[in-house]
Amino acid sequence: MSEIYDRQIKLFGEKKQQKLQDSLVLVLGCGALGNLVANNLARAGAGLRLVDRDVVEESNLHRTLFRKEDLGRPKAEALKEVLEQGSEVEIEALLNDFNRFTWEEIIEDVDIVADCLDSMLPRYLLNEVSVKEEVPFVHGSAVKADGRVKFFDANNECFRCLYPRRPEPGKLETCSESGVINSATSLVSSFQSNMIIKYLTGFGSINKDLLVFDLKNGDFRSVRVNRRKDCVVCNEKKFEIMEGGDDIIVEETCEGFNVVPKSADVNLQKISENYNGEYNEVFVTLTFTGKKVIIFENGRMQINTNDKKEARSIYSKIIGL
Ligand SMILES: [Zn+2]
Repeated sequence: MSEIYDRQIKLFGEKKQQKLQDSLVLVLGCGALGNLVANNLARAGAGLRLVDRDVVEESNLHRTLFRKEDLGRPKAEALKEVLEQGSEVEIEALLNDFNRFTWEEIIEDVDIVADCLDSMLPRYLLNEVSVKEEVPFVHGSAVKADGRVKFFDANNECFRCLYPRRPEPGKLETCSESGVINSATSLVSSFQSNMIIKYLTGFGSINKDLLVFDLKNGDFRSVRVNRRKDCVVCNEKKFEIMEGGDDIIVEETCEGFNVVPKSADVNLQKISENYNGEYNEVFVTLTFTGKKVIIFENGRMQINTNDKKEARSIYSKIIGL
């Protein structure tokens, strides 16, 4: 067994180490939490699938492992490259959006999921996937100086029991609006990776309460969450997001709107020429009626506007759906 794991083997032995090395963890979202969770897990020896739909921006550097040379690159790919320099595990990197069209391929063969997402729709979808497929996940969030962590083990209380009402788009505080302190993201990600390692190895025990950190005042609480008898997901097994109707998703994100078609035939080279964009073989960046637009190979588009109708309209004009 590799010398890398020496200190860990001294703590919990070779058998548990082997379990870790035989596992696959899905890290959903490669922002601050995803970076630090993946870093701990890769160095501990767990196989990783990194998924993120965004590219690295300068404002990410303050709480991630990204380097200046990664700016503009897909986050998952850049993170994989950083982690491979200090670990021996297998890492898959997917530039993809976790949505009702893609979840099945993304979740395949995964033992546990780190929820490092930064928006609510994919998070509620992850909860449905977790209950349906019986895959546990560890939720983490950090905004301002506040952090939250909760282990969901797929057959007890679920995320929807904790937050029964899906928030209206735009109603929830996000890091891009409210800011975040980097010690909050490192604390939350430490708890997430700790729980995942314990789940995979059987080392120690997992506190399944909702953990709430207030790093402005140095306060910590552990809150018991009960299963709701009327929960639509874990009790009624209704998977509304997974089974949603339209062939197109228009979702509000930190950066504007994310528009995802069920399927689309796009020629990025041609779009780039038509709209005077920049094409780097992976995505096209262009400006349309003053708004920054990024288009990916599967027809997904990120549009920097806070107007849903305008986002949908720009999408139609460029892609035609
Ligand atoms: Zn529930």
